[in-house]
Amino acid sequence: MTIVDGDGLRRRLDAAWDLDPEKTGGGPEPFMATMRALLADAEAFGEPETLFRVRIGYAYSLGFKGWDNSSREVTGEWLGVLRRCLLMWHAEPHRYDEDYVTAMWTQLYRLLDVFVRTFPEPADRIRRLIDELERYCPPTRPGTRYALDEARLRLAARRGDVAEVERLWTGLRTREIPREHMFPDGVASIDATMWIRLGRPDRAVAALAPVLTGQIPARDGHDHEDSLLVPYLLTGRVDEAVAAHQRAYTRSGMKLEEVAAHLEFCARTGNEERGLDVLHRNFARIGYHCDSVDAMWTAAAAALLCRRVVAAGLDREWVWECGCADPACETLPIYTYAKLGQDLRWHATRFAEHMDELNGTPHLGERIDALLRAEPVVDRLELPPAAAPARHRAEPPRSPHLDATDDAGLLRALDLARAADSGTSRIVLTQRVLQNALVGGATRALVEARFALLDDLLPDGWELWSTDLFSCLVELFRLHEARPTLLGADRVAAMWRAVPVALERALTLPGTHLRQVHALLDTLERHERPCAGDRRHVRWFRAWAWARAGEPEAARAAWERFLALPPAERRAASGDTARAVQWWLDLGRDRWAFESAEALAAEAERSRLLPALLRAGRVDEAHELHERTYRTVTGAPEVAAHLQFCARTGRLEHGREIIGRVLDLYHVADDEEFAFDRLRAYAGAVLLGERLAAAGLDEPWTWPADDCCPAEDGWSHARLAAACRRHLALYARRWEELVGTDFHTRAVTALADGR
Ligand SMILES: [Zn+2]
Ligand SMILES: [Zn+2]
Repeated sequence: MTIVDGDGLRRRLDAAWDLDPEKTGGGPEPFMATMRALLADAEAFGEPETLFRVRIGYAYSLGFKGWDNSSREVTGEWLGVLRRCLLMWHAEPHRYDEDYVTAMWTQLYRLLDVFVRTFPEPADRIRRLIDELERYCPPTRPGTRYALDEARLRLAARRGDVAEVERLWTGLRTREIPREHMFPDGVASIDATMWIRLGRPDRAVAALAPVLTGQIPARDGHDHEDSLLVPYLLTGRVDEAVAAHQRAYTRSGMKLEEVAAHLEFCARTGNEERGLDVLHRNFARIGYHCDSVDAMWTAAAAALLCRRVVAAGLDREWVWECGCADPACETLPIYTYAKLGQDLRWHATRFAEHMDELNGTPHLGERIDALLRAEPVVDRLELPPAAAPARHRAEPPRSPHLDATDDAGLLRALDLARAADSGTSRIVLTQRVLQNALVGGATRALVEARFALLDDLLPDGWELWSTDLFSCLVELFRLHEARPTLLGADRVAAMWRAVPVALERALTLPGTHLRQVHALLDTLERHERPCAGDRRHVRWFRAWAWARAGEPEAARAAWERFLALPPAERRAASGDTARAVQWWLDLGRDRWAFESAEALAAEAERSRLLPALLRAGRVDEAHELHERTYRTVTGAPEVAAHLQFCARTGRLEHGREIIGRVLDLYHVADDEEFAFDRLRAYAGAVLLGERLAAAGLDEPWTWPADDCCPAEDGWSHARLAAACRRHLALYARRWEELVGTDFHTRAVTALADGR
């Protein structure tokens, strides 16, 4: 057994510092292991000066731990060790080495930053911790007082308390930045980012000014002007924004907030292609899973870029590199920007909701929403030529899970893929064939793989893959257009058979943007085959698309073109007439709805007209129709109509009965399954639930168990109404992004409010 003595411990501590991962020759694993061993010995030895130093060293080493799955554990241990140091120092302030005391405060300051941004903790908890630390911090440490005020500033900014931010920031600006705890240029840069996130571009520019004028020297290799890209843009200093972007956009190792700044800059200046280059350069960094405040902002900026890319008609398939060698890998290699944007906007929105709970303010939810819906500042800002070849235009890499890139090898791989037992595995394997066919220019395999995917995605049950089906069909028509003789008549017929399925899903389920629907319809128009019923699809879905766009006149004109088809070509599938009736109701055109409804046979479908009948003064007719149908309706549009009827005529018990029967409609298991028709059904539940509560007819009930959740007590119609209101706000916003208008948002909000 080694004898532990003070000199030996101090020598070992000196040696341990050489393993600091920030030094050459250091590394996180040996550093942490050495510090941990030292800590055990120092605690056993018990001599306070040495123990204090070793604890500081150990606490510092914890900052290098890979934290992903145990952040709470690590930060808890980190805080625990530092607290013990703080108490030792507080009891005997003159006993400990000043350098180590300063290091202790620097680490406490870093830990507060981790709680604010990296592994966010509730605001109250952080505030109490700052208060506690302040009680231990004597006025003789002005630098440390500064650091604690700085932490308060960051927390106030996270909560969106602008008055408090103003007060603290103005005060801090008159004091000297304590170099023992922080880098002054870094502070200025974080300030600039803080202000632009609070919506104050002028303040952001002012915050970084001392660095740009050289009053605060920038550390070597640090270019802070990225944080001013958007502030410059918003304050009219366009040339400076362009110069800062151009100088930095290819830089590797950017911080998340810097990536976000370039993405937003590109998205809001009509430079979508450049934005995609930045996106692909930093793909590994963008924080796809959104686990920190900065990752949330970056994901939202990337989602904004994706939305602009789709709006500019630039969406296409691209290869997502899993970069792994795992034989069980199930990563889908074929992606689109519409799909990536959808994933990222939900990750950012959900994380912002979580942050709002931690903050006790709605600030971040509102700001992230504002970023997601941000519009261009200038439609098209000219940039200098690319500083390097565009990364998103590079040849896609071969799949790490499939060697073949030629037709023969890929067709064999496709046969194997088709034999896979689960649908998802089959799609993953087939997409790999597609990926390598793109790489190797193997046209036969490419065509076979695309049609195989079409077969996979068309059947019922694959509705949630609507964007994949849509992009598969778009790519097939692109191929057909580029090489008209490549695909035989049978292939083209198969594509047309997929058209109504893909378009119906695209218009009923979230994921595909309306702009893409119109673009596909334009393509289809060019390829209509005579006498094959193709015209019917194009005209029908064109009318539907205009109804979604909230454009009554355009929808009506498209509808009339549909009606001009010979009756044999106009054949309607079941539900089509009810669908057309619904367009006119959605558009607020009751008269057209009544016209179309003449062809409606089913009573249940007719009940969609209930509110329109009330508006037309056909009250008795409405009551009879309601009485005959309210016990059996289940479809979202019919439920929506009945609930409006019940709320407006005081038949509140009937409405309650309907909701009790169709509760499944009000359960959202997946953000991507929120069909357009559900918006109005939710508005109905809001109105009815609030009226039930106001009439004293509400009582508690239990939500029954379903496939994904256990039964849940404590529900009431008032609670359901409140939940539906939140869902309505969330999903109406999502649909607004997709259809490019707030027409329906305004309409469903008015319905929910009983207007
Ligand atoms: Zn993989
Ligand atoms: Zn469930």
